[in-house]
Amino acid sequence: MFEKILIANRGEIALRVQRACRELGIKTVAVHSVADKEAKYVKLADESVCIGPAASNLSYLNIPAVISAAEVTDAQAIHPGYGFLSENADFAERVEQSGFVFIGPRAETIRLMGDKVSAKNAMKAAGVPCVPGSDGALPDDPIEIIKTAKRVGYPVIIKAAGGGGGRGMRVVHTEAALINAVNMTKAEAQAAFGNPMVYMEKFLENPRHIEIQILADQHGNAVFLGDRDCSMQRRHQKIIEEAPSPLLSPRIRDKIGERCAEACRKIKYRGAGTFEFLYENGEFYFIEMNTRLQVEHTVTEMITGIDLVQQQIFVAAGEKLKFRQKDIELRGHAIECRINAEDPYSFVPSPGKLTTFHMPGGPGVRIDTHAYAGYTVPPHYDSMICKLVTHGATREQAIARMRIALSEMLVDGIKTNIPLHADLMADAAFHLGGTSIHYLEQKLGISHK
Ligand code: ADP
Repeated sequence: MFEKILIANRGEIALRVQRACRELGIKTVAVHSVADKEAKYVKLADESVCIGPAASNLSYLNIPAVISAAEVTDAQAIHPGYGFLSENADFAERVEQSGFVFIGPRAETIRLMGDKVSAKNAMKAAGVPCVPGSDGALPDDPIEIIKTAKRVGYPVIIKAAGGGGGRGMRVVHTEAALINAVNMTKAEAQAAFGNPMVYMEKFLENPRHIEIQILADQHGNAVFLGDRDCSMQRRHQKIIEEAPSPLLSPRIRDKIGERCAEACRKIKYRGAGTFEFLYENGEFYFIEMNTRLQVEHTVTEMITGIDLVQQQIFVAAGEKLKFRQKDIELRGHAIECRINAEDPYSFVPSPGKLTTFHMPGGPGVRIDTHAYAGYTVPPHYDSMICKLVTHGATREQAIARMRIALSEMLVDGIKTNIPLHADLMADAAFHLGGTSIHYLEQKLGISHK
C-alpha cells in the first residue's frame, strides 16, 4: 500500500480524499493555489505545496507544478479528484512517466472516453445501447449534415466531441436553423475545448438521466454499484442526485449494470467510473463515460456502505476487488443536494466570507464540505461549497430528512441555493418519483426552444 498520496485538487473533494487516506494510515500532500493557502484541509495535510497563483490554469491545471510537488514530497501516487486534471490523459501519462501511480484509469482509456465520438463507438462495439445520431463526427458538407438530421429526426442536439460540464451543446428544432447551429457549436467547441469536432444526436424530449457506477481492478474483475438518478438539472448540470433511481426495477438495474461491468472487462477498465445514460420509454441510451470519481459518488456510498475513494486507492495499488457482484447490496435510499454559493433563482455566483455556517446533523445526514464560519469562498473556482446528503430506509424518509436538514442549515454572508433545494424537496412531481431532465428548467420558466 502507498505511504503517501498527493491530492491534486481543492475544496470539498480534496478533503474527501484526504479523509479516505487518513483512515487508511496514508500520509497526504495538499497542493494549493495562493487563494486556498488558508484552507482547513491544507493545514490538516501532512505536507502542503503552493503550486501557483489563484487562476487555475496557473495552479490546479499546471501539470509540471503538480508533478514537481509530488517529486519534492516523495509522494507515490496522485489522486486527481474530479474536474481539473482528472480526465486529462496527458496528465495521467506524465504522472506515470514520472514514476508515480495515477489513481484512475490508464491514459489510453481516458483518451478514448474523453472524446465522446470515440467513446460512443467503443461502447457500441461493447454492446452498450447509444442515442441514435450521426455515425461519428459530422462532416463539413452541409448537404450531408441536413441528410443526417432528416434521418435522425428533429429535434436534434449538436454536441462537441471534446465537451464537458454541460457545455458545447445546442438543440436544433428545424432544418432552417441547422447549419448555423452546427457552425456556432463548432466555433465554441474550438474555443472552449481546442477541438472543433461535433456530432449529432436525437434530442430526447422526456428522458431521465440515470448512471451506473462501476469499479474494476487490474485483474479483470468489474462490478457495478447500483445506479444514480441525476435528472434534476439546470443547463445540463446536476443539482440533486439520488440512489437508487425511483424509476428502475431491480431486474432492469441489474441488466444494464451487468452490461456496463462487462464493457469494463472488455476495455480493460481500471478504477472507478460512471456510465451515463438517458432513459426514456424503458430504453437506455449511453451518452458518455466519466473516467473518474464523480461529485455524486456519495449517494452510492450511502446505499452500498462502500468507500469509493478507498476502493480507487486499493485498485491503483494493484489489489484485487474484495467483493463480487453478489456481495453488493443496496440498502435504503440516499439523496444529495449540491449547495452552491449563488443566487437561488438567478444563479449568479456569490463568493465572499461566510459569517454564519451552521450545519445540520442527526440520523442519516452526511455533510461533505471544506467550508466553515469565517471561511471566504474565493471567486476563482466552482461555486459548490457543500454537499448535503441524507440516507433513509425509504425514499420518503430520505426526503423528509433532507427537508429537515435544509431547514436547520444556516449560511450567512453569501447567497446560496438552499431555498431552491427546499422548494424542490416540497415539489409534487419530485415526490411522486422524480422528473425528466427538462423539468427544473420548465419549472423555472427557462425554455430550450
Ligand atoms: P457533459 O459531458 O457536458 O456533462 P453529457 O453528454 O453528459 O455532457 O450530457 C449532459 C446532459 O445534457 C445530460 O444529462 C442531458 O441533460 C443533456 N443531454 C445530452 N444529450 C442529450 C440528448 N441526446 N437529448 C436530450 N438531452 C441531452
